[in-house]
Order: sequence, then C-alpha cells, then structure tokens
Amino acid sequence: MTHLLSNEPRKVVIIGAGICGLGIGWRLASAGCQVKILDRAAAGQGASWAAAGMLAGGVETEPGEQALHKLNKISQALWPDFASELEAETGQDVGYRSEGTLVVASTRDDLAKLRFTYDFQTGLGIDLEWLSGEQARAREPHLRRGLAGAVFSRDDHQVENRNLTTALQIAAEAAGCILLENTSATLVQTKGDRVAGVWAKETFFPADDVVLAAGAWSHTIEGLPDNARPPVRPVKGQLLSVKMDPGAPLLNHVIWSSGIYLVPRLDGRLIIGATVEERAFNTDLTAGGLLALLEGAWRIVPGIEELPIDETWVGFRPTSRDDAPILGPTPIKGLVMATGHHRNGVLLAPVTANAVSEFVLTGRIRPEIEPFQLGRFIESRACVS
Ligand SMILES: Cc1cc2nc3c(=O)[nH]c(=O)nc-3n(C[C@H](O)[C@H](O)[C@H](O)COP(=O)(O)OP(=O)(O)OC[C@H]3O[C@@H](n4cnc5c(N)ncnc54)[C@H](O)[C@@H]3O)c2cc1C
Repeated sequence: MTHLLSNEPRKVVIIGAGICGLGIGWRLASAGCQVKILDRAAAGQGASWAAAGMLAGGVETEPGEQALHKLNKISQALWPDFASELEAETGQDVGYRSEGTLVVASTRDDLAKLRFTYDFQTGLGIDLEWLSGEQARAREPHLRRGLAGAVFSRDDHQVENRNLTTALQIAAEAAGCILLENTSATLVQTKGDRVAGVWAKETFFPADDVVLAAGAWSHTIEGLPDNARPPVRPVKGQLLSVKMDPGAPLLNHVIWSSGIYLVPRLDGRLIIGATVEERAFNTDLTAGGLLALLEGAWRIVPGIEELPIDETWVGFRPTSRDDAPILGPTPIKGLVMATGHHRNGVLLAPVTANAVSEFVLTGRIRPEIEPFQLGRFIESRACVS
C-alpha cells in the first residue's frame, strides 16, 4: 500500500454507481478517502434498480455453490444492521422485510425437486421447514388450493432495492464522495504494474486505487491486460409488477415456484420475476417472456388475474463464469474488483462494501472473500468471451 507513506488522503476512483460502487464509496469516504464515483448514466439505474431485492441466501443455494453459500450467509447476517445504519444516516426507509420466503410445489414433479433441494439445503445447515400445501395456504391464503407441498425459509428476507440505492447514494455523498453521473469511464490507465487513474473521454481522474464496479459492463472498459479484465457478461432478466391493495395485499411472504418468484412490497406492488436469458444487452420486453412470468405466477396465486399491471422492465445481471462475484485484488496494483454478483448483488451489498473497502484501506483480504478473487479465472483465460 504505497500511498500510506504520504499524509495525503488516499484518492480512489470507483467505476459504477450501483449498489456495489455506492456501498464501497460510502465506506471509503467515511474512512477519510477522497472518493470519486463515475457512472455512465444516472446513479443506481443498472441491475441495482432492476432487481427484485430478495436476500435469498438459503433457498437459492444450488449444488456446487457451497463456498458462495458461506459468503451469502455472512452477508445475510449483516443485513439487519446494514439497513438500520443506512436508515439512521439517511432517513431513507430501505424497506427491509423479514416475513421469510415460501417455496411452493404445484405438481408431484415439482414436489420431488423440492424434496431434493430441501435435503441438499438442510444438509448445509440452512434452516428450512417442510410444509404441506394446506400449511402453506394457512400462511398465505391466496395460494392456489391443492398445492403439493412447500418449504418455509425464515431467514430469506427482502429489501426495496430502489430505495436502497437511493439511500446508498445519499450516504455516500454525505460522507464526501463526489458522484459524477453521465461520465462514462472509457479506459483504466496503468503505469508499470500499478493503476494510475481513469479516463472518461478527454478527462483524466488520477487515482491511487481504482475500484471496478461497473456491473454487467465491467468487461467492456479498455486499458486492462487480459489477466486483469473480469470475465463478466450480462444475463438478461425481464420482470413485471402488478398493483395489490396495500391495505389488503394478496401476499406478505416472498414466494418461489418453479421458474418464477413473487415479491410483495409494502406499497402494494407485487414484483413477478424473472426470465434468465443470454441475449447480451438486448432490452426487448417479449410477449413470451411476460407470458411465462404471468402464467407461472397465476398458477400459484390465481388472484393476480384481477390486478392491474403496474410496470414492466428489463435488467442485466453481472454474471461471471461461475456465477459468483469477483472481489478484491488483481494483477495490477491498486486495481480492485467488485463485480460479477450475478443474481445476488443486493444480498451481497453489505459484505461487498465492508470487505472491498477494507482491502483498499489495509490490503487485508478477508477470509470470506478469498475464494472469490479474479485469480481463480486466470489459468483459463482462453475461455473468456
Ligand atoms: C432481473 C434481475 C433480478 C435480480 N434480483 C435480485 C435479487 O432479488 N436479489 C439480489 O441479491 N440480487 C438480484 N439481482 C442481482 C443484482 O441486481 C446485481 O447483482 C447487483 O445489482 C449488481 O450491482 P452492481 O453495483 O455491481 O451493478 P449495477 O447496479 O448494474 O451498477 C453498475 C453501474 O455501473 C455503471 N457503468 C457501466 N459501465 C460504466 C462505465 N464505463 N463508466 C461508468 N459507469 C459505468 C452503470 O451505469 C451502472 O449504474 C437481480 C438482477 C436482475 C437483473
């Protein structure tokens, strides 16, 4: 950490003002760094805006994701304090809700899959409760009659991710971050084996450290050698929301079923998501995509049929080759990764902000992010698209 030799505050440029960049900026500026956050558009309008805000460290865990599950669990445990701290600093309600998540099976086939996932997840120590269809309906009376079975996860909560990005922006700016919107980072400048700063068209922003937090666009920024470019691609998701009566909402829990989820918000919006598509940065909303979401949701909550459509949108998950985030050091000194969070970036916001800012400040790599460094991809760079 060469900069520690001088008394000047450390200069950090963060590329990307999503949940990751804003959270890290907030922590670094609070620790006395001079932080500039560049965003090519308005802050918080990327995946962080498009997400459904589930903090699903339990029911989303798939075979092969044991290391990621550990990281998810650490972040999940940080969430209540992270939300309170942000709300206290900004006065912004981030809509943290802790009713838990129900995963429901409609058919015998779905039930067999649910049993397999339940056995796998409880084997990892995830706290789940097996329910009959009727027991699930006792908790959510608008679920369809005759469900084959369900699982309840008391620890999988949700947050209103759009409020969260607003709160993070307020907190980051209040801590002293300079946010430069409509400022696209075009090139990371290196000098020898160190980072020197970031170019945004003709303007150069010198930096001791550069944090690459550009979400699904992280692979597109010029100036980096192949072994310091994160193998991140966009994975498209279409979503929609319908309007419930906030005084008598159809649902209170997050609900999962085969291929879809429903996330009820306190303001009455019910988010229905999401497709998973390899379509690069294609922003089309398709009839097939929306039909699949609506049909899937209607099969488990028929009452949505009467509800007005509120909004439809598309977002891009920043996805690495193993679906896990890329955090911490790179072969270029001072260039730090905070990208590739795929479908878990909201859940991972607290651990990303804490661990990446700590690395910038001290050079320490926390054990929980050790397995998620860029280095894990370097041997097989030839496969990066
Ligand atoms: C459909 C969908 C549903 C999701 N649901 C959930 C969920 O329920 N729970 C969960 O935990 N996660 C969910 N996610 C994932 C989560 O949204 C992301 O992992 C997370 O938001 C990533 O945050 P980020 O800050 O890395 O990226 P982003 O929010 O995309 O921010 C990156 C920012 O970088 C900016 N940028 C890009 N290029 C440049 C450049 N050259 N110069 C300057 N700025 C640049 C962009 O404008 C953007 O603002 C979902 C994602 C999608 C798409």
